[in-house]
Amino acid sequence: MSQYDYDLFCIGGGSGGVRASRFSANYGAKVAVAEEKYFGGTCVNVGCIPKKLFSYAAHFRDEFHDAAGFGWTGPEPDFHWPTLLQNKNKEIARLNGIYESMLAKAGVGIFKARATLLDPHSVECGGKTYTARHILVATGSWPTIPRFPGCEHAITSNEAFFLDGLPKAAVVVGGGYIAVEFASIFNGLGVETTLVYRGKRVLRGFDADLGTRLAAEMAKKGVTIKFESDIAALEKKAGGTLAVTYQDGSRGEAGLVMYATGRKPNTKNLGLEKAGVELADDGAIKVDDYLATSVPSIHALGDVTNRINLTPVATAEGMALAKTLFRAQPTLMDYHDIPTAIFAIPNVATVGLSEELAAARGFTVDIYKTQFRALKHTLSGSEEKTFMKLVVDAATQRVLGVHMMGAEAGEIIQGMAIALKCGATKAQFDSTIGIHPTAAEEFVTMREKFTQ
Ligand SMILES: Cc1cc2nc3c(=O)[nH]c(=O)nc-3n(C[C@H](O)[C@H](O)[C@H](O)COP(=O)(O)OP(=O)(O)OC[C@H]3O[C@@H](n4cnc5c(N)ncnc54)[C@H](O)[C@@H]3O)c2cc1C
Repeated sequence: MSQYDYDLFCIGGGSGGVRASRFSANYGAKVAVAEEKYFGGTCVNVGCIPKKLFSYAAHFRDEFHDAAGFGWTGPEPDFHWPTLLQNKNKEIARLNGIYESMLAKAGVGIFKARATLLDPHSVECGGKTYTARHILVATGSWPTIPRFPGCEHAITSNEAFFLDGLPKAAVVVGGGYIAVEFASIFNGLGVETTLVYRGKRVLRGFDADLGTRLAAEMAKKGVTIKFESDIAALEKKAGGTLAVTYQDGSRGEAGLVMYATGRKPNTKNLGLEKAGVELADDGAIKVDDYLATSVPSIHALGDVTNRINLTPVATAEGMALAKTLFRAQPTLMDYHDIPTAIFAIPNVATVGLSEELAAARGFTVDIYKTQFRALKHTLSGSEEKTFMKLVVDAATQRVLGVHMMGAEAGEIIQGMAIALKCGATKAQFDSTIGIHPTAAEEFVTMREKFTQ
């Protein structure tokens, strides 16, 4: 008979918490999970899934336009936001149910309540105290809005998923992936969209070519992009429109201003300090290679550790932790060559090192890149360009990075990620037969090194 109520008490039923709880229970542990808002967490409710559904909706504008060149004509299609919202909400409710029933089927105890830490082995949840041999903090993160006059009128991605209606004009602030995705979504759904970013190039941290080329494509599709710009003040006018004053003194108007400039780990008022858990300066929980915090019985993973904030990373960490704790199989996460996609229009996806990072790490690199109009657009008339790039270690000829902007980039780069994991060389890319006619075949037919 254990001295604890549970082997594992997990705080947070998002991507990482659900995976860790389910697999720990599968490995024979007695597990409980506390979730205060929605099962599935950010990804299912206000992240990846609804975002991608909105992105599909936004893509249709281009597709209706493209169809004409292939002989399809008809009345101008009309977009009905309440239908999209209702269908999205229905699908998310279905997924919430699936997540909850997956946990129940695995025998995990479910608490629909907030939980906080009391000490290294106990939590408070729904007015009761529970003890556990291990506690997992998987509480995710939350969007932030900087403070400035009128900032209370701005929204974040959280609210953007539940708008009563679409505005005539929207301003999206930020240069990261969430900002470019939402700017593409609003623009695609017919909203006059301005993207405001204080830097000179979107997608900082990604290969520079991707940010530069994506901004050019988004501008072609109608997004107004203001670089080196920021909002100084917002004022709500009669009728609800927002008067926007920029830092350079220029002014504009929008029905909606959305900030996507940052997220903070959910570590406030969790009792972490009381339990002795160390935090980093940004409020993230510090963990070791096995996801243990400074208190050995308390673990943390996913966005609350603010490292690589992606769903598949949180779930892989959840699996690793379950194996470490309950399968007697200490498992280290492998953070190398994690592929990721940006569901802007057009899509962007990447795996491995950018040209800049490869140089910073001391590699001398061969660069291969190509930009072209995809076959589909020879008839559609669209000016959209597809871009592909390989970063190759000149010494070993190993492919260090694969980068793409274009239709279904995420689907294509997922396969490239396997090649990188296998340590593929440029010669192996070259000896791979292409699938014709596709855009992806360009990855195995780039022969000429790029020279400035
Ligand atoms: C707009 C947007 C788009 C995104 N798109 C993508 C994408 O395309 N691909 C991708 O890989 N990633 C994407 N992400 C990131 C992804 O959603 C996160 O990395 C992932 O959800 C992190 O999982 P997690 O388990 O760490 O946290 P979360 O999924 O955030 O789960 C944390 C859970 O803990 C609960 N909680 C918090 N505090 C408590 C408490 N005290 N008691 C009980 N419950 C608590 C919260 O309610 C939440 O459900 C996106 C994120 C956003 C915001």
